[in-house]
Amino acid sequence: MAQTDLQPITVDTATRVFGVIGHPVFHSKSPVMHNRAFAVTGYPAIYAAFDVTDIEPAAEGIRALGICGASVTIPHKTTVMKHLDAIDDQARKIGAVNTIVNNKGWLKGYNTDSYGAVHALLDQTGLSGKTVMIIGAGGAARAVGHGLCEHPGTRVFLTNRTEKHGLILAQDLDAGFVPLEKLETTDFDILVNTTPVGMYPHTDEMPVPESVLRPEMVIMDIVYNPLETKLLYTARTRGCKVIDGVGMFVYQGARQFALWTALEPPVAQMRQVVYDTLNNY
Ligand code: NAP
Repeated sequence: MAQTDLQPITVDTATRVFGVIGHPVFHSKSPVMHNRAFAVTGYPAIYAAFDVTDIEPAAEGIRALGICGASVTIPHKTTVMKHLDAIDDQARKIGAVNTIVNNKGWLKGYNTDSYGAVHALLDQTGLSGKTVMIIGAGGAARAVGHGLCEHPGTRVFLTNRTEKHGLILAQDLDAGFVPLEKLETTDFDILVNTTPVGMYPHTDEMPVPESVLRPEMVIMDIVYNPLETKLLYTARTRGCKVIDGVGMFVYQGARQFALWTALEPPVAQMRQVVYDTLNNY
């Protein structure tokens, strides 16, 4: 549906309020994505951005103001957990919450990042019988790794600049570890970059040398600023199938929308508005 076909939102006393809590949040694409999803489904809600440095009163504020749900982003994904009433099993295993659902003052935390990464991949490639190499050992790698390790028939390996960090996460996930310098001689089908390498303003950097990329591979970068990172540009020109970071972002948001509304998320329209916003940036 084109934006001009959308009905103007009437904000009244029945309007439900959602938002993203983080610091900083001025760059977040969650408000345009979720407001578009509410508009196309006719769900009576608005979504705002809350720049929050102190998470404890923010969690209390969700209860006090009756905010129906929130996205949680850097730096609060872990610290928010102790201020919630319940944590979903997968979020507990990952050790981070990116979604809060408020059920009459009872706050439950979820993590939709692993769902987002797995569904962004499944849009473009099968995962059963495939070997996936994850670059990185930070918070995003932990979420992506959990999702992929739970997927039936998928073998998961990690590589990381600091071996110690990579080995610790690989052990937690029950995944394999491959040192960065051995990547060129290691067989895998899918490569997922979860490090910030290549993100604006360091757009001329790549997390692995070009020689690692073979045409039969699928390469996903979860960085989406720029949309085509140097890794994705190089992979595309070498003949690989590439998946940009918008895929994971949109699917993690789609899962949030479903948790908040119990409606089918309008994934195509959510994706379109994020691309439009990034292209006009
Ligand atoms: P993080 O916890 O800070 O991750 C740091 C990881 O990146 C570590 O493994 C670190 O290696 C590695 N790293 C950092 N700088 C490096 C460099 N110059 N060279 C090599 N490795 C480097 O960050 P995060 O929260 O996981 O987020 C990572 C990226 O994912 C961010 O760009 C974020 O915007 C993006 N993200 C995207 C989505 C999405 O929906 N598309 C969702 C979440 C996150 P060491 O262990 O050696 O320090």
